[in-house]
Amino acid sequence: MAKLKLVLYWAASCGGCDIATLAIGDKILKLAEVADILFWPIAMDFKYSDVEKMPDKSIDACLFNGAIRTSENEHIAHLLRAKSKIMIAYGSCSYEGGMPGLANFFNRRSIFDRAYIETQSTDNPKKVYPQPKVQVPEGELEIPEFYDTVKTLAQTVDVDYFVPGCPPEEKTTWLALEALITGKLPPKGTVISHSIKSVCDECPLIKEEKKIKTFYRTHQIIPDPKKCLLEQGLLCYGVATRGGCGALCPQAGMPCTGCYGPVEGVVDQGSHFLSALASIIDCDDPEEIQEIISNIVDPAGTFYRYSLPDSLLRRARIK
Ligand code: SF4
Ligand code: SF4
Repeated sequence: MAKLKLVLYWAASCGGCDIATLAIGDKILKLAEVADILFWPIAMDFKYSDVEKMPDKSIDACLFNGAIRTSENEHIAHLLRAKSKIMIAYGSCSYEGGMPGLANFFNRRSIFDRAYIETQSTDNPKKVYPQPKVQVPEGELEIPEFYDTVKTLAQTVDVDYFVPGCPPEEKTTWLALEALITGKLPPKGTVISHSIKSVCDECPLIKEEKKIKTFYRTHQIIPDPKKCLLEQGLLCYGVATRGGCGALCPQAGMPCTGCYGPVEGVVDQGSHFLSALASIIDCDDPEEIQEIISNIVDPAGTFYRYSLPDSLLRRARIK
């Protein structure tokens, strides 16, 4: 039987998703039996020209991690889409924009100002910014264009499946790989995970009545490890996040931060969490409510930590 032809790629990514694909442990031996990896820049020395030479649709599946932040990310997304029968947005950055997507609260100019002018360790008196093209004695050098707005993979090319997580848990990765290996694929557009319900649904911590008088940051209290963290005032995102991870973070005393994306049927994860919080604040006095809410540091970054590019907001409007 012909082996499955797989490729893995990272765009605007931290590399964690590439490492997560190896977290399948000894199942990697099973994968090696049935699949060949034709292109995987983080692990093997391939050139883009190797991919360009492949016939269209000659790759069975592409696991694409990372957001679309530069012209190079976009170009390779189009190239791999053309060459692959199945395109999978693997991990939060590719699926929803992820952490790199928080840059959509800024624009290219303000990011460059911070990175190349303002940081204390930068010495750049002539205020030189990176340019896509620059002339040097040896000729013209070209680097990818840095876009104003971070996009998801699905905002760039047609995507067949989404694998949530930052990074995806081992069992979620294997669920996707197993579907590819067996050919038992879910309907196009499926978010591949063991659950369509919320993290709260699979969280074993004791849940009583959710009524909150104040919010805490994780370093401010030592929570009771057996009780729901949200009920103790920690901003646990499990109520608005798709399950399938096994609620690992809350069980380790860390609030869920929302990396598995919205639960099935919800378009905007941030506003879902916001409305859940609004319903559990134990107060009727507008001034006191304002004070309780003011304890939430960086609300926009918290509510849209992984999903700003894919949200209804998509980005901040900057004049
Ligand atoms: S989803 Fe998380 S682990 Fe994966 S590339 Fe993005 S930041 Fe890294
Ligand atoms: S700790 Fe978090 S995930 Fe667990 S039940 Fe409470 S809100 Fe839900």
